[in-house]
Formats: sequence, structure tokens, C-alpha cells
Amino acid sequence: MITSTLLHETLKINFGFEKFRPNQEKIINSILSGKDALAIMPTGGGKSICFQLPALLFPGVTIVISPLIALMKDQVDSLKANGIEACYINSSQSSAEQQEYIENIINQKIKLVYVAPESLAYLENTFSQITVSLIAIDEAHCISSWGHDFRPAYTNLGYLKKRFPSTPILALTATADKATREDISKQLNLTSPEISISSFDRKNLSLEVRPALDRVKQIIDFITDKPNECGIVYCLSRKTTEELAEKLQRTGINAKAYHAGLDNTTRAKTQDEFINDDCQVVCATIAFGMGIDKSNVRWVIHYNLPKNIEGYYQEIGRAGRDGLPSETVLFESYGDVIQLQKFASQGLNAEVQLSKLERMKQYADAVSCRRKILLSYFGEIVTENCGNCDVCKNPPAFFDGTVLAQKALSAIIRLKETEPLPVIVDFLRGSKNAHILENNYQNLKTYGVGTDVSWYDWNQYLIQLINQGYCEIAFHLKNQIKLTPLAHEVLFNGEKVQLTTIQKENAADKGTQKE
Ligand code: ADP
Ligand code: ZN
Repeated sequence: MITSTLLHETLKINFGFEKFRPNQEKIINSILSGKDALAIMPTGGGKSICFQLPALLFPGVTIVISPLIALMKDQVDSLKANGIEACYINSSQSSAEQQEYIENIINQKIKLVYVAPESLAYLENTFSQITVSLIAIDEAHCISSWGHDFRPAYTNLGYLKKRFPSTPILALTATADKATREDISKQLNLTSPEISISSFDRKNLSLEVRPALDRVKQIIDFITDKPNECGIVYCLSRKTTEELAEKLQRTGINAKAYHAGLDNTTRAKTQDEFINDDCQVVCATIAFGMGIDKSNVRWVIHYNLPKNIEGYYQEIGRAGRDGLPSETVLFESYGDVIQLQKFASQGLNAEVQLSKLERMKQYADAVSCRRKILLSYFGEIVTENCGNCDVCKNPPAFFDGTVLAQKALSAIIRLKETEPLPVIVDFLRGSKNAHILENNYQNLKTYGVGTDVSWYDWNQYLIQLINQGYCEIAFHLKNQIKLTPLAHEVLFNGEKVQLTTIQKENAADKGTQKE
């Protein structure tokens, strides 16, 4: 019988921690009872303990699937530093090295084995000679093509459940919207997993969006203001990282570029310098940051609009891991939107990626608390405004939009939550277009109750309602708009809704880049 006291002792003795972080103990208990689990925890939340600690209590070996060789090495090194026997198997090793590790695994000298998904097949022979007590799948969102970081090598992992039917599987990820979560469970063949979702709220990160006018100057001013604070500027292209690093260097800022096109030595050097505070600023593509555990990153700037909210949140999450106040700034440019739309429409799963980009854009255009929007994206409903985003600090003019909200939310109900945003607007405005007539929508209640509001304004009001968490976009169901429990408060319990006046200027001009 494993008691809470034993768990705490193991935590203290082997990892040196006094108490569990939120959800760690719950996840560990469900694994120890033999159940599958899906743990959604923000970066830095403490996912590793959730499989490392049970690995020590189980009789057999724990297999950890991890996509990043650099990350495996770090984890194995830190486990060894804590006196825990661990190793990794991946393509960077010689076969003699691999053979030596495999012997250790078979001889029960190893508690945790980190494996890249591509190298799993190599272990098949070993598997039949050992007891696998637990399988942990890190960065589990990589299995879903709905996620933002799909990796084909992950798609085969579904076989693990069939290969080890009685071994618990723990899937871990820092980023997954509701639909991706379900996809992870399904693809890994998890059996009624215990799903635990930690709060994603990082109150110490301030959130700010600025139009991308004169980005470089704004960034130089920003950094010059805080000469002793280090940070990351995320850029979309490799070329931009290099150009920007050079421009910053010219003003005397200690900046370096980082992207996957640079050779390993240069990359490792930049990473080390940044970690050791010898380089103040890294201008990087999203290749930078995964697995970097630097606690005092004081700010993160997005030079370009990110592709989606998951990526954005993960990247800003690299700031302030020590819990101290840290700043994040996102530059929004219309040019970026166009370019990203082009990429998305040419890539895998174009429709989903385009909707995610649209959501990112709506976040950037938000007129209500940005943190609420981020958290509602991850399924966390908060009612209080955060006070630490630019919208909260500088609120736009609000008016009582309860009646408008009631009309819009009723329209969504009348349309049985099956239509995307433009159809809802057409329906509210009493349009007689083909789609409306084919479905006989003109005969439903609420049809045409909003003819007095322009198409553009309705569209913006609906986005505000989404951003405030009254309804949501089901990306994987053709962008159908669904109501959330908050909508019922408005429709049936008299909750008031605040909307903001819509700026009449041409939204398309906002933030057009002039560089
Ligand atoms: P994640 O994988 O979720 O990004 P990690 O597992 O790397 O996070 O943990 C992030 C940091 O938090 C690490 O430095 C780790 O040692 C620390 N940590 C994890 N659990 C605890 C705990 N219960 N108490 C104190 N520190 C913890
Ligand atoms: Zn806010």
C-alpha cells in the first residue's frame, strides 16, 4: 500500500522537494493504481516528477518517450545527479553505446529509459526480456495533427497500448486545446484516462499587443530600458532572426541569432551563453526554448504574430519561470497575417490551422482582458479581469451589450449550435442568401432581429462574446459556434454583458507594417 506519507518521503529524499505542486500527487496516484492518465500542465509546471517518482516505486522499468534528444540528455543528467539510474536511447549514439545501455536495462540496473519515438522499434527485443511498469509519453500533443507541433514519428505510438495492455500510460503535454486532448487519448488508445488539467494562469506575465509600426526601434527602446534583463525575441523566419540580431548588435545590445539552420556548435554555444547570462538577447525562431530551463528570462517579444495560441502561450511561458514579474509584447502586423494565412493554407490540415490563426488574430485584436481569452482557449473559465494586460490597464469604452448578446446567443441556439460565425451574422441580419433559404432559417425565431446593426459590427460583437467566454469556436467541427455555460447565465439568469464600441476605422489598416 503506497501512502501519501511514502510519496512525500520519496519526493523529499530523491528529488529534494518538500511538497507536491498542484495535481502532481493526483496524477502519481492514478498511475500507481494502474490507470492511464493524461496530464495537461503548463511549461515549468512540474510534469517530469509525475513519471519519475512512480518510476522509483514500480518494480520494473519506466519507458519515457520524448521527441527531443537535447531534452533527454538534460533529464537523464539531472536524474543521475539525484542518484537515480537512467539512460537514453536515440540515434545520436553509437551502437556500442546503445548495446551497453540495453544490457543495463536487461540487468535491471536502470529505472528510467528515455527513447525517441523513432528508436522504439530498436528496443522491441529488449521489451520481451523486461517488465515495463510505466510508459510516459512526453509532449504528447505531437501525436495529433490537430495540435501545433505534429510529428509523424508519434503516430505509431498507438501500438504501445496493444503491446503492453496492462501497463499504465501517462501522456503529458503543456499545450492542447479540448479537441487535441481527445485526439491524444484516442490515438494512444488510452483506457478511460484520468485527465488532469492544471491551471495555465501565469499571473506574473504581463500581456501586451502593439501595432508593428517601427518594430525594430520599439524593440531597441524596450531593451535599452532594461540593460540587465535578458529575454527572447521570437521571429517567424531564420532570416529575420539574423537581421534583427545584427541590428541590435549595432546599437550595442548583446544579441545572438538562433535557428535550426545554424550548425550544432553555434546553437549550443548561444544556448549556453544565454543560460549563463553571457548573452542578453536571443533572436530566435520557435526552434529555441524547448527544454531550456532558464528561470530568469524577464521578457519575451514576438516580432511576428505566432501561428496559433498554443505556440504563443508556450513561448511567452518561457519568461518568468521564477515567478517574478515579467513582460511579454506581441507585435501585430497585417502583413504577417497574410503570410501566415498563405503558409497555413498550403500546409497539413489547412482548415484547422487557418482557424487557429484566426483565433490568434482575434486575440491580438481583443478589446477585453487578454488573459481571460488565453485561459478560455485552454478551457479555463475565469470571471475576473486580470489587471495585468494592456486591455485591463487601458480599457476601451464599454456599454451595456446585454440585449445584443442575448440576440446573438439565442441565434446560436436556434441554429442548433451548428453554424459558423458568418452564418450567424447573416441570420441575425435577416439575409436571404442561398444557405439561409436552403435551410429554411428564415422561418426560425430570432431570424432578422439584428438588422439595425451592420454586418461588420455583428462580427466584431460575436468575436467579443467568444473572447469573453460566452461562446466558443469548435475548430474541428467546421468552426461551428457553441455556447459555454456562461451563455446560459446571460440567457436565463439575467447576467449583464459589457461590450465595447467598435472602432469605425478600417480594421485592415491596423498595424500595417511600414518597414
Ligand atoms: P515541465 O516538464 O512541466 O516543464 P519540469 O518537470 O521540468 O516542468 O519542472 C519544472 C521545474 O520545477 C524544475 O526545475 C523542477 O525541478 C521543479 N519542480 C517540479 N516539481 C516540484 C515540486 N514539487 N516542488 C518544487 N519544485 C518542483
Ligand atoms: Zn487582463
